[in-house]
Amino acid sequence: MANCSVCGRKAVYVLRHSGMAFCEKHFLEYFDRKVRRTIRKYSMFRPREHIVVAVSGGKDSLALLYYLVKLSRKRAPGWSITALVIDEGISGYREQTLRRFEKVASELDVNYEIVRFRDEIGKTLDEIVTEAHKRGLPYMPCTFCGVFRRYLINKYARKLGGGVVATGHNLDDIVQTFIMNVLNNEWDKVVRLTPVSGPLSHPKFVKKVKPFYEILEKETTIYALLNGIYEGFEECPYAQLSPRWYVRRFLNFMEERNPTLKYSLLRSLESIVDLLKKQGVGYSGEILSCKLCGEPSAHPICRACELRTMLGLKLRELRANTAEGKGTG
Ligand code: SF4
Ligand SMILES: [Zn+2]
Ligand SMILES: [Zn+2]
Repeated sequence: MANCSVCGRKAVYVLRHSGMAFCEKHFLEYFDRKVRRTIRKYSMFRPREHIVVAVSGGKDSLALLYYLVKLSRKRAPGWSITALVIDEGISGYREQTLRRFEKVASELDVNYEIVRFRDEIGKTLDEIVTEAHKRGLPYMPCTFCGVFRRYLINKYARKLGGGVVATGHNLDDIVQTFIMNVLNNEWDKVVRLTPVSGPLSHPKFVKKVKPFYEILEKETTIYALLNGIYEGFEECPYAQLSPRWYVRRFLNFMEERNPTLKYSLLRSLESIVDLLKKQGVGYSGEILSCKLCGEPSAHPICRACELRTMLGLKLRELRANTAEGKGTG
């Protein structure tokens, strides 16, 4: 590994497209500058803000929680932060990530709430996958996981009184989703791949932001490692069933040959979103209320209720006692 371009110490990271290298200290400064620039550029937070950080226990969302808590204590005293953890119920995987989350949350002394698929949707993701298989439903585990998780994040962020939800999506996630949407000819989804979603005209919709929008996955990994919040790599057992798995491998393979590839894709995405918006593709700003659950939806019945109905799961009222943690203050 090269030496730091700033101080000459041993580098932990090299920007392959520019040749700049950073030691631990200067990597953390580079990371901080880059994330703060993104937050400012897209006006993600107000000076006084209740930020709900959506946490899976994976390295990106943990890194985001850690980063925002540290940033708020150093530079944004008007922010309050609550972590919202969704436990999908993935046996042999989620238990470990939840343990890691609880350790980090206690070190940071941050409030949190855990919401479980089992309690809210009526089944764990593992049970949903079995049921879907029995019923011959043509969906991958990630489809159920993503739809129900987004549904619960919006619902609980609102319940917690959050003004904005921050998610740990990084640049790699965004360009992977972009490619997948293009492959599926889903341009209405491409339009939604922005660093800030909304504000959509629905009283139940909570704004979502992606502070790591311009940060590569390898950078969030190094940040998490250097801060001792990431101990190892484990992968969701369902990950390899998703097309994302192959897109990710393909993009990493291409990036080996072209270090600016992911940045170029991000800029292409931004140009295409501008063009699509001019053509009126995507939301017109008017969002409906799901006829079954009342949550914001692009269609008369939201996708979560649609999938729940296919699985034979009845809509259940939110139950006040399903959450765990230190409270929500
Ligand atoms: S890989 Fe798929 S199933 Fe696993 S946590 Fe991610 S979205 Fe959910
Ligand atoms: Zn240095
Ligand atoms: Zn619904």
